[in-house]
Amino acid sequence: MVSGMALIKHNKPRITEDDIAVVSNVLRSGWLAQGPFVDALESQLVQLYGSGEACAVSSGTAALFLALKSLGAGVGQKIAIPTYACSALLNAIFLVGAEPLVLDVLPDTFCLNPENIIGNSRNENIVIGVDTFGAELMTDSLKAQGLKVIQDCCHSLGGWGEKGPAGATADVAVFSFYATKIITGGQGGMLWAKNFDFVNIARDFREHDCRDEYIPRFNMQLTDIQAALISNQMLRLGSIRAKKSQIANRYLESLPLGLSTQAGVDSPGRMVYRFTVLTPDFFTRKRLAQHMLDNDIECAIPIERHELLHRYLKLDPQSFPVAEHLADTTLSIPIHGCLSEEDIMHICAALRTFSP
Ligand SMILES: *Cc1c(COP(=O)(O)O)cnc(C)c1O
Repeated sequence: MVSGMALIKHNKPRITEDDIAVVSNVLRSGWLAQGPFVDALESQLVQLYGSGEACAVSSGTAALFLALKSLGAGVGQKIAIPTYACSALLNAIFLVGAEPLVLDVLPDTFCLNPENIIGNSRNENIVIGVDTFGAELMTDSLKAQGLKVIQDCCHSLGGWGEKGPAGATADVAVFSFYATKIITGGQGGMLWAKNFDFVNIARDFREHDCRDEYIPRFNMQLTDIQAALISNQMLRLGSIRAKKSQIANRYLESLPLGLSTQAGVDSPGRMVYRFTVLTPDFFTRKRLAQHMLDNDIECAIPIERHELLHRYLKLDPQSFPVAEHLADTTLSIPIHGCLSEEDIMHICAALRTFSP
């Protein structure tokens, strides 16, 4: 530590006094389980999309699982997914009894390459695509191939593209409210679909108790405590997006020659969930991480090589050259709501003084 300032954490949830007040009111109300605040949170999301239905659940993984169920995924089916993604995708697929078809990603957006699916056998008709770090999945190209698309919007909630809010053209959009996400309830998740039938299947599975007829269901409910906390942060999505965009633009201007970043971080409407720096090679990334740490800035490797989904499944790494390269060369630098002006200036200065 050379600068004498406190370590700037890679991530920190921003909880306001107002958030705390809202949660206190729920705690005093006498109703803690899924109730009026969960209903209100679902309505808020439907309002954001201007149509459809939403179902709040206990986690993003639960939302992915229910999205698959709502599209009828099951035993014997293959679900196409990107390898540069969270293991939650694999978990949801195996839990419905289906199998993953793991594909490489694009080097500029880090998202699924629609062309990779055309080249593969077509017994899979469902794809889970991820808006990686806030990037926009090519949902329409996927749908044009006759695929049903689950868009994992855990990194893009609050982002806007040409067709409206992130996930608006997907069959089902999925969100997470885990502590490190754009907004948080500690844990939590949600799914949205234009088609009410899909959401009804998810709802049926979630309402496990006091039913007329028994079929196996599970308790994947969100509490009103979490829902109130998330709802209150939903009101700030616009300002969260604006602040992240501003910071991202300053980081962009501060990047020394030889370093680059994910495509589209300066697009209007983009939710810059993560600002990832692309370095030329593994050793430059290691030097950059150390340089930042020497300046009291904690960075993170967003997805390491051993975490790539094809590695978990012991598939041949040579078939996934882009993801392998990204895993070895990207570094995520802090871009959260608790950063002060001083922190941001300090991070920009640290970037400028690095020689790749
Ligand atoms: C966090 C995350 C998930 C899983 O969400 P949980 O709430 O942790 O279960 C799934 N996909 C992506 C892209 C995520 O970032």
